[in-house]
Parts: sequence; structure tokens; C-alpha cells
Amino acid sequence: MSFKFIQTPRKTAFLNPFDQFKPTEVEVDLRFDPLTGDRSRILSFRFKTLGKMDHSLYLERDKGRPCPFCPGNLEKMGARFLPEDVAEGFLSRGEAVCFPNAFPYGAHTYVIRLTKRHYVRPSQFTPAQVADGLLLAREAFKRLAPEDTYGSVNWNYMMPAGGGQVHPHFQIVSSKRATHFEEVLLRRAKNYATRHGQDMAAAYVEHEQADGSRWVGRLGPLAWMAPFAPRAIYDLMALSPGGKSLMDLTPKQVEGVARGICRVLKYFEAQGVGSHNMALHTSLKPGAGLPLMLRLVSRVQIPIMGIDEINYFEKLHDETVCFLSPEEMARDLKKVWRD
Ligand SMILES: [Zn+2]
Repeated sequence: MSFKFIQTPRKTAFLNPFDQFKPTEVEVDLRFDPLTGDRSRILSFRFKTLGKMDHSLYLERDKGRPCPFCPGNLEKMGARFLPEDVAEGFLSRGEAVCFPNAFPYGAHTYVIRLTKRHYVRPSQFTPAQVADGLLLAREAFKRLAPEDTYGSVNWNYMMPAGGGQVHPHFQIVSSKRATHFEEVLLRRAKNYATRHGQDMAAAYVEHEQADGSRWVGRLGPLAWMAPFAPRAIYDLMALSPGGKSLMDLTPKQVEGVARGICRVLKYFEAQGVGSHNMALHTSLKPGAGLPLMLRLVSRVQIPIMGIDEINYFEKLHDETVCFLSPEEMARDLKKVWRD
């Protein structure tokens, strides 16, 4: 086997105040991810339930504010492309509309308003809506950033995930240089190909399908699984073997990607996950070497105090503390892995 799934158990003992101060031993599972190089700590105890998803606080705060992404407002309030770049001011496909990010964080950062509807629950997104967003991102990369090598389609859904608007929107970014995470993945993929003469994503998918413990299923061009070392309590990863990119998928394959996203979102809502981040990492040029990877992660607040799942460990040590094992989550999701 060419992947080293490093898993180091660490035990600690104490007198347990929740069990009449009896000596108790707790195990923590330290993991190193052979695909991404990520590190996580899986705890053996877990929260009971997140409770029901609740967006009422954000919807209440949102009342009375004019939404710049709602139909009618978008045309008046949204940023527009320079006329020499896009004569119409924005790109559109179905309900999706792409326009410049008025708060840019790079040379090519754009927003894609996904739906006409202002508020959409995670389970209500349709594959057609998500596919239109992805296809529009592809058109934007082609038309507006033809020189760029790497791109990503990202999503901050709801305020705990960093979303600035309730109205669903993707954020896309492209550059000649990959982001930090992508550079690590790219380097590991190149090293793997040199060492083993094989495509890393293809070999990893093959291993995970055969192993089965974190495997969810294949759908369209992507293989879905839970990563060995998660970046969140709920972390789903999809990979495409064989050096594919968003740029060379057929519309039907893009719809397959969108169906997978919608399945995960339905599962998220059923688990009480009301906020999520997404990143679809892609090469924009043939041979650029970045594996096509999609990540969908929870951004939950743990009851009853509403504790953010991100803490000092993740923020300052680059390690994720996780209350749910990826194996357990994959088992759960597999039960409902259907449209
Ligand atoms: Zn709106």
C-alpha cells in the first residue's frame, strides 16, 4: 500500500466528575492524512445531537435590510463588470448571476448569486440550481481569467460559516498561483506521481473504495468519502481520478457533481448542520496537476452554549479537534445516499 494512514492512540486518565469520580480512561486518536497532510484529533466522546437547524436569528437580523442579491435589487445594487470585459455587466445562467465581488481579496474574485429565492434551506437546493452555479463559474474562469492556472468555487452558507448575506451565493477565485492548501495538495500529487508513477487521486479513490470504512459512493465524475483526518466535525470529500478539472467536465457530469452536493446538504440539515463551507478546487489548464477535489464542511455551534466548532487548535495549531469519527459519519451518510 502506498498510503500511510498514521493513527496514534493517546490515553489519558482522571477521576471523572460525571461518573462519581471513578478513575476513567479516555482515548484520543491522533491522525495524519496521507492525501492532504492534514492532522486531526478524533475524540472518543461526542456531543449527543446538534438539535434542529435554526436560522431564526439571522432571518430576524436580516428583516428590513434591502438584499443586494434579490431580483430587482441585483440590477440596481450589485457590482458590475467593466464594459470592456462583459458588455452586459454580469454573466447569467438559469437563476445564477455572476458579478464582481465588491469586497475583492484577489485579482479575480467574483460572486455568483445562486437562486432567485432569498432564503433557501440546505435541503431545498436543487441539482439544477447548483449545476448552473458551477457552469457559470466555469464560464467566468474562461472569459475573465484565461491566464489563470488554478481556481475554486467556494461557499459560505449562513453567518456562522462567514456568509455576509442570507441570499445563497458562491464565491469564486482564480489565480496563477494556487492557494496554500492547494499548493500542498499539488506538491503531494506531484511527489506521488514521481515516486509511484501513478495518479494520486486515482490510487487514493481505489484504496478507499476497497477499504470501505470511509467510502460513501460514486456519483457522476466524483468519488465521495469522508477524509481520514477531517477538517470539521462533518467533513465530506469528493475526488476525481485521472487529472480531470471542472473545465473539462460535460454538463451532465457537472450535474452529477451538483447532485452529490445536494445529497450532502440534505444529510447536513437532517443532522442539524445549518451552516457550511464548500470549496471545489480545480486546475484551469491541462496538466496543471491540481487534483479535482471538493470539500463540504460543517460550521456548527455545539449546544447548549453555542460553542463554535473552530477553536485555538484549528486556528493556531493547524489541527482539527473532531467529535465524530469520519468512519461513523460515512456509515451514517451512506444510509441516505440517494436523491
Ligand atoms: Zn435576497
